[in-house]
Amino acid sequence: MQTVPLLDHTPETVVILGGGPAGISCALWLKNLGHHPIILESGSETGGTPGQIDRPNRWIAGMPEITSIDLAKKLQEQCTVSDLQVLTEVNILSIRCDEPHHFKLSYTSSDEKSEINCSAVVFATGVRPRALDCTDQKALSDLIELDPLGHLTGRSSHVGERSLVVGGADNAFFTANDLVNSGANVTLACRSLPKAQSSIQAQIKSHIESGKLQVILGAPTSFREKETSVEVEMSDSAESFTLEVDKVYLRLGFTPSFEGMSEILEKLELTMDQQGFPQLDSDGRWCSQGIYCCGDLNRHEVSAVVSSLAGGARVAKTIEQDLRRSE
Ligand SMILES: Cc1cc2nc3c(=O)[nH]c(=O)nc-3n(C[C@H](O)[C@H](O)[C@H](O)COP(=O)(O)OP(=O)(O)OC[C@H]3O[C@@H](n4cnc5c(N)ncnc54)[C@H](O)[C@@H]3O)c2cc1C
Repeated sequence: MQTVPLLDHTPETVVILGGGPAGISCALWLKNLGHHPIILESGSETGGTPGQIDRPNRWIAGMPEITSIDLAKKLQEQCTVSDLQVLTEVNILSIRCDEPHHFKLSYTSSDEKSEINCSAVVFATGVRPRALDCTDQKALSDLIELDPLGHLTGRSSHVGERSLVVGGADNAFFTANDLVNSGANVTLACRSLPKAQSSIQAQIKSHIESGKLQVILGAPTSFREKETSVEVEMSDSAESFTLEVDKVYLRLGFTPSFEGMSEILEKLELTMDQQGFPQLDSDGRWCSQGIYCCGDLNRHEVSAVVSSLAGGARVAKTIEQDLRRSE
């Protein structure tokens, strides 16, 4: 009878940018696979986008009642329990790749400058809201809102407000539903047939029947702000028309969170697709040198916590295989 040796390899350091569901899941799995993950998070705590959403997340099988905020807390707790190394308030200064799977990453954490040598880098920085081509994002006033959660904060009553929500995916429908429920009269403008999940579209049917909400085809082409209202030039495939509303809520989808990193990405010669998302292979590799992506940054995944958790685990497995091959 032969005995079999157990796995005995030196743990490799892997840096993960972003401490949301994807980054934490990736770190946890890398640790399970015998490596040393380090999460670098730009915010003051981990948990990612779910940490800002105080409502039930019904999209994770087996956890029907958990809220997104509770989920974010559980992810944070697991970082502690699993003894994952996490640095917060991180600003990435440079990433240098001398040869495949040899990186030097320079960063500040809480204003202290430092460097890490690592064998792989994972981007799990999530996404941020996309602006309209016809809007100068910096010029957006209080009357035109871009933050997908903005309508939930500050002014909680929208009684009598004439609201225009622009977009056809889940977030546009969530916002329209919330606004009607807090007293607004809402026009939801979709550029083409709505893409929101069927169960989310079903939630607004009663609002259409009660006359509080109309769903129209059209996209804004320009905005003219008056003192307390906005005139919006709209067009669909057949005609142009004008809407005057009290507030516009842009819910136009998302673009990668790569703020301040364009020079770094350029130097690493990483490629993007036409929508500005990383061009990845089917296993989450961004290039053959040892750079990977997971979570919302992977445009081919469903944009949800459950797929981000799965994507993080999948990328960890890919890294493990690549590192073993490069040994
Ligand atoms: C309004 C709204 C409602 C949603 N509702 C649901 C829902 O009900 N159910 C559901 O399953 N999903 C929902 N989602 C989607 C879900 O939140 C995302 O799919 C999920 O959070 C993606 O995880 P992630 O780890 O890829 O990114 P994120 O959760 O966005 O985490 C990214 C992390 O990276 C950090 N980061 C960003 N830039 C840097 C940088 N340069 N360096 C270091 N760190 C950085 C961020 O601070 C953040 O902590 C919702 C999203 C939105 C916007």
